[in-house]
Amino acid sequence: MSTLFDNIVSLSKQRGFIFQSSEIYGGQAATYDYGPLGVELKRNVQAHWWNYMVYQHADVVGLDAAIMMHPKTWEASGHTEAFNDPLIDDKASRYRYRADELIEDHIRSLMQEGKQDQATAVHERLVAALNSGDEMPEQLYAIIMDEEIRAPDSGAFDWTEVRQFNLMFETHVGPLAETGDRIYLRPETAQGIFVNFHNVREPARQHVPFGIAQIGKAFRNEIVARQFVFRMREFEQMEMQYFVKPGDQLDWFDTWRDRRMSWHQALGVNANKLRIHAHEQLSHYADAAVDIQYEFPIGWKEVEGIHSRTDYDLKRHQEYSGKNMTYFDPFEQEKFIPYVVETSVGLDRTILMLLCDAYREEEVNGDERTVLSLHPELAPIRAAIFPLVKKEGMPGIAHNIENELKRHFNVMYDERGSMGKRYRRMDEAGTPFCITVDGQTLEDDTVTVRDRDSMKQDRVAITQLRRYIDDHSAAWETV
Ligand code: ATP
Repeated sequence: MSTLFDNIVSLSKQRGFIFQSSEIYGGQAATYDYGPLGVELKRNVQAHWWNYMVYQHADVVGLDAAIMMHPKTWEASGHTEAFNDPLIDDKASRYRYRADELIEDHIRSLMQEGKQDQATAVHERLVAALNSGDEMPEQLYAIIMDEEIRAPDSGAFDWTEVRQFNLMFETHVGPLAETGDRIYLRPETAQGIFVNFHNVREPARQHVPFGIAQIGKAFRNEIVARQFVFRMREFEQMEMQYFVKPGDQLDWFDTWRDRRMSWHQALGVNANKLRIHAHEQLSHYADAAVDIQYEFPIGWKEVEGIHSRTDYDLKRHQEYSGKNMTYFDPFEQEKFIPYVVETSVGLDRTILMLLCDAYREEEVNGDERTVLSLHPELAPIRAAIFPLVKKEGMPGIAHNIENELKRHFNVMYDERGSMGKRYRRMDEAGTPFCITVDGQTLEDDTVTVRDRDSMKQDRVAITQLRRYIDDHSAAWETV
C-alpha cells in the first residue's frame, strides 16, 4: 500500500478521526470506529448530503427504515440467490481472495509491463466470465490457471477452486436460534425504500417523478477487506431512489449523474481526481449504470454508484408480497409501475476521499507541517480560540468568544502549549480558522484570525467574527 495512504491511516488514528473497532482485543477486521474528530466530519458530510438531496429538492423526501427487514425482501431483491462474490483460497497462506480482483490486478500488471494485447485478451475473457451466470466460477478459475496468476501475499500458485460466497450476514430473531426466523442484516439501504414506496409517497403527497432519500448502515461479509474504510463489513450508505415514468428514466439518469458529480465537486475535492466511469457489465435489472470514482492513493476507485434500475425492484416486491405496487398518475390518468434511478454513495468512502484529498505535508520556514485542507463547512472544528498567554484576562475574553461562537459552529478553546504547537494541532484537525486573543485585544477588542491554508492573519473585531467566518466559509464552492 502507498506510503501516503499509510500516513493518512496513521493520522486518522493519532488525531482521533478513525481507528479499528475493538482494538484492545486485537481489533475486529474491516470494522472501524469514528473518534471525536471523525464523528464531526461524518455528521457534517451527512448533513451536507441531506441538505442537498432533501432540502434543496422539493421532490425528494426522507426515510429512516429498519436494518432488519422481512426475509422475503431479500428473496424478492435477488440478494439471497445472487449477492455473491467469487472467492478463491491460496492453500499455502490460507489467505482468501476475490477471484475477479486477482484477475483485474493481473491485467493492470500486464498493462504496466507494456503487454497490451495480452491484457486486452484477458480483460475480454474476464468480462465474458462475469456474464456467464452459473459458469462464472469455472471460467474465472480457468483464467487464473491459464495466466498462472500467483497469490499476491505468498507468491504461491496453489489455489483451491473458485466458489460463490454470499455476502449477507445472517442472524435469527426470537428466543431460540432453532425455532426463530432466519433474517439478514441489510446489505444495502435501498430495499427499505422500495418496500415503503406507498407508505412514503401518499402521506408526503408526492407524485411521480419524486425521490426517497435515506442514510443508514449496511452490512456485507466482504471477503477481502484490507483497505481501511474503503471496504468495511459494516458501513454507511446515503441512497436516493428516484421514481419516474417508464421511458423517462434515461433523461433522469443523466440529470442525477450530473447533480451528483456537482455535489462531489462542491465538497472541495480536486476536480481532476474525480471521474465518471461507465460500467462494463450491467446488472440484469439495469439499463444504465456509472460510478463516480476518485483517484485514491491506491488507485481510481468507486465512491458512488448511479444506476437506472428499471421497474425490477417494485415489480419483484409486487410479485413476492402480493401487494400492488402500481402508481396511478392523476394528471395523465394512467397506471404504471415506476422505473427507478438510484444514487448510492458510501459515507465512509466519502470520508476517506475527503481525508486523502485534504491531506498535505509541507515545509514552512524549515518546519514540517501536516495539514488537512477540508472545506470549512465540513471541518470537524470550524474555529479554534486561543489566548496568547494564560494571564491579563486573555483566557476570559477567549472563553467569551467561544461561548458566543459555539451557538453557531463547533469550536474549541485551547490554551496549552506554544502558539506554534497549537496551530499545528489545528492544522492536522483541518480547522480552517484560528482566533487569537492578544495584547492588542485588550486595547481595541480585535483578534487575529489565521487562515489554515494560506497561514495569513487578519485583524478582526470580536463583534464581526461570526460574519467573518461565514463569509470566508462561503467563499468555497457549494451546491
Ligand atoms: P464495490 O464494487 O467497491 O464492492 P459496489 O458496486 O458493490 O462496490 P454498491 O452496491 O453500488 O457498491 O454500493 C454503493 C456504495 O456503497 C459504493 O459506491 C460504496 O461507496 C459503498 N460501499 C459498498 N460496499 C462497501 C464496503 N464494503 N465498505 C464501504 N463502503 C461500501
